[in-house]
Formats: sequence, structure tokens, C-alpha cells
Amino acid sequence: TKILWNDQIVEEKEVKIGFEDRGYQFGDGIYEVIKIYNGDLFTATEHIDRLYASADKIQLVMPYTKDKLHQLMHELIETNELQNGQIYLQVTRGNSPRIHNFPNPAVSSVLTAYTKETTRPLAQLESGVKACFVEDIRWLRCDIKSLNLLGNVLAKQEAVTKDCFEAILHRGETVTEGSSSNMYGIKDGVLYTHPVSNLILNGITRKVILDCCEEIGLPIVEKAMTKEETLQMDEFIMSSTNAEVMPIISIDDKAIGDGKPGEFTRKLQKAFEQKIPSTLQV
Ligand code: PMP
Repeated sequence: TKILWNDQIVEEKEVKIGFEDRGYQFGDGIYEVIKIYNGDLFTATEHIDRLYASADKIQLVMPYTKDKLHQLMHELIETNELQNGQIYLQVTRGNSPRIHNFPNPAVSSVLTAYTKETTRPLAQLESGVKACFVEDIRWLRCDIKSLNLLGNVLAKQEAVTKDCFEAILHRGETVTEGSSSNMYGIKDGVLYTHPVSNLILNGITRKVILDCCEEIGLPIVEKAMTKEETLQMDEFIMSSTNAEVMPIISIDDKAIGDGKPGEFTRKLQKAFEQKIPSTLQV
């Protein structure tokens, strides 16, 4: 499959990334993961807007306009004949002799994007998954979709070691989000989730889920939960571009509700599926 490299679609072997690329050396860059259902980008505008917002927050100059990026991503999907999968896209501050401060004069940013065929996690969406609490040791700008993911990597690894699908991060007693997902609890017919702030990534799937809540008449309270409150929820959910509306059925081996995906979770999953642009749902 071909790769988008800056503004060109090329063979993988043609892509040359410098060993002094600031993404490689400092994690000095940003990224997005966008889902493709039936040959079409899902919530592309929202992802592109978030990418440019992340760029602004780290004073990174994007190499071209949002429209041009949108168009190039479409071309990449068509060239690679991708029907169902994802695009991974990252932009770094470029290649330059290693100093911590920004290169002066500035160098061009380096953009790479590639497609990958994936399937929806249907079995897990049906059964639900296990999660565990992990202390949130990340920095205080989790609203930026930065390439610096070491805190997330270590948290996810701890979860996997404990045979869990995801880590539920907490700062002290306060639950923030997952290692690569947002978190929601449902209690007595109300959905709770961490408010948008510097402590979480404002998930695109989060926004879709909040729309689904409106549609099914599930009231939303954007308020952080404590660890203790989390365990008392009737239902628990995580969300991300790839995991969609994923039921969490236990945390640290303690069952949530009756240990099965609940009624509101199923309604939200249905409402979400209806937003997938397809005639044939895969
Ligand atoms: N939080 C973090 C830390 C993430 O890495 C992700 C996935 N990129 C999310 C939340 C979910 O965001 P989205 O729904 O846009 O995939």
C-alpha cells in the first residue's frame, strides 16, 4: 500500500525520515487516527479540526490547508482501495540538528499517513471487556493529541499484563480517561463522563456518543467520577475511534452491575451503528 508523505502519495520505500526528525527524537509532533467504513472517512472534519487545533497548541505550522489534507486522504484511500480500516496520520516539527528549542529558522514539518485494513471488534462489543485502574502519570496537556505517549504506553502495558483490555486512568481518586479512550458511567438513568479539560483528550467518539445520548433520551452529566463511584455504576463504557462504544463489565475483577453489558449501553451501541455510513454494515 502507498503512503502519504507530505503532499505526495508514494511507495513505502520512497519515504525518507531523518534520524534527527523531532518526532523521532522528542515526540515533537501530533497525530490522528481516523476510521474508514465502506470506503469513507468517518467524522473526518472533526478529526482534521482536532489535528489543526493540536498543531496550534504546540505552535506547529501545518504544511497545507485542511481542505487539501482532506482531499489527499481521500486519494490515499482510493489508491489503496481501502474499504474498512483506518488512517494513521502524524505531523512532526521536522528534521533539524538536535536542540530542545524550535529550529530557527524553522524547517518544514514532516507529515506521514498510511492506511490499514481493520475489522470492527464485534466479539468484544457483544461480550464487553475487562479493565483495571492505573494511576494517571501523564503531563497536564492531555487535550493535545501529542506523539508523546509514554504514560499511555506504560498504562496500557500494565492493563495487558493484568489480562485487561484497557487501563482506567485516575489522578488520585479522580478518574480521567482510558490509556487511549474516554470513559463513561451510567447510574440511575444518567450518563457521567469527565468534562472536556486539559486532563483528557476530547474524543471524537465521545462527541458522537453524547449525540447518541440526546437521541435515546439519556441525560448527560459532565462531571468527573471518583474510583469509588466508578465501581458503583450500573453500567460502564469506554469509547474510541477503533473501540467504538465498548462495554466494560469489570474493573480490577469487580463486576460492574450484573457483569454484563447493560440496557443503555446496548441502546447507545445501536444509535452509534446507525451513524456508520454504510448500506452493508461490516
Ligand atoms: N483519550 C485518549 C488518551 C486517546 O488516545 C484516545 C484515542 N485517540 C481517545 C481518548 C479517544 O479519542 P477518539 O474517540 O477521538 O478516538
